[in-house]
Amino acid sequence: MTAPSAWLDIYDLDAELTDEERLVRSTVRAFVDRDVRPLLRDAWEDGHFPKELIARMGALGLFGPTLTGYDLPGLGQRAYGLMMLELERGDSGLRSFASVQGGLVMYPIHRYGSEEQKSRWLQPLASGARVGCFGLTEPDHGSDPGGMITRAVRDGDCWVLNGNKMWITNGTLADIAVVWARTDEGIRGFLVEKGTPGFTTSLMRHKMSLRASDTSELHFDDVRLPDSALLPGVTGLGAALSCLNQARYSIAWGVTGAALDCLEEAAEYVGEREMFGGPLARFQLIQERLADMLCGVTKGRLLVERLAALKGADRATPAMISLAKRENCAMALDVARTCRQLLGANGISLEYRTGRHLCNLESVITYEGTHEIHSLILGHAITGHPAYRT
Ligand SMILES: Cc1cc2nc3c(=O)[nH]c(=O)nc-3n(C[C@H](O)[C@H](O)[C@H](O)COP(=O)(O)OP(=O)(O)OC[C@H]3O[C@@H](n4cnc5c(N)ncnc54)[C@H](O)[C@@H]3O)c2cc1C
Repeated sequence: MTAPSAWLDIYDLDAELTDEERLVRSTVRAFVDRDVRPLLRDAWEDGHFPKELIARMGALGLFGPTLTGYDLPGLGQRAYGLMMLELERGDSGLRSFASVQGGLVMYPIHRYGSEEQKSRWLQPLASGARVGCFGLTEPDHGSDPGGMITRAVRDGDCWVLNGNKMWITNGTLADIAVVWARTDEGIRGFLVEKGTPGFTTSLMRHKMSLRASDTSELHFDDVRLPDSALLPGVTGLGAALSCLNQARYSIAWGVTGAALDCLEEAAEYVGEREMFGGPLARFQLIQERLADMLCGVTKGRLLVERLAALKGADRATPAMISLAKRENCAMALDVARTCRQLLGANGISLEYRTGRHLCNLESVITYEGTHEIHSLILGHAITGHPAYRT
């Protein structure tokens, strides 16, 4: 396992970790270094998620680890955050898989599902024996999911579902889709199983970002669902948004890992690359950029450390989570872009990690609420005026 450079943790935040948190982190880091990194370049270039990792990720407890009951581990929020950081040190696609499986599929089943749904799905999802996806975004409704067109209509003791979802992570891999649809009773969530007649998926190709991730469309054409497919605890869009907050939390931690990986690679590169008669690292312009980036990643880690404590105490508000998602994604993208420049032409080669992180982070700053939507959430919290629509 590679030990990260000590200066990356200049405030010695790791000294605060419990033995359990250290173990969790070093286990995930070893997994990423040994089993994931060798696959990433080709998976990313080829544009597929390395499915062979799913069961291993499940065995490491990476799916829904903070959930309790149903033989789930009930791990602390910081331990979970560190897992996401280490995964995204590898690749944002890997962390996205875990965020969706845990935060967007297991969480809604755990919080809003029936006992039957929980007993049937939570353990297989936790182990990776089953895969889930979360269908909220539609072709014409992204930042405003409340405008969704997908509709479920009651027909006797069944529901009939029609519509399309787009940009859905894990879509073609999924055994179960958590699907949000408009009904006469408001927005409700449904569990739609793979193979249900009328339910089809198609992989979205030609992405320049998050290439080692399955991104798909979901199509529902008169899909008949039993009443038992409904998540009984959902009463409106707020339930979907509560899931997004789980995923946003994992993103705020995860992108810090991508930024750290870029910074570590760039610092090593400028130390070895000789130009104008010596290493690039001796130039003041280079050092200022390294200093700026170290400030950025340190502040990012401090933000999520505090957020973990608040979330663990059940005090994390949506605005607090938005702040960390917004700030850390912007920081990580800035760091990745600067590091890519420091690597010169090599920065665009998949032989190095930074260019891949940079491209991935363009998705991460967009999904789970774009930078602008998080600005509006914070603006709302500051002023009391919702400015999402004019
Ligand atoms: C790789 C990837 C994976 C994804 N995975 C999933 C998934 O698993 N499940 C899922 O449901 N969705 C998923 N998404 C969709 C993602 O959540 C949406 O792309 C996101 O919500 C933005 O929606 P949009 O793309 O339609 O952009 P739009 O909403 O059309 O926004 C376009 C631009 O306008 C800005 N904008 C929008 N409204 C306002 C406003 N009121 N004020 C100012 N600016 C505004 C946005 O910030 C953005 O810059 C994924 C997306 C990607 C790229």
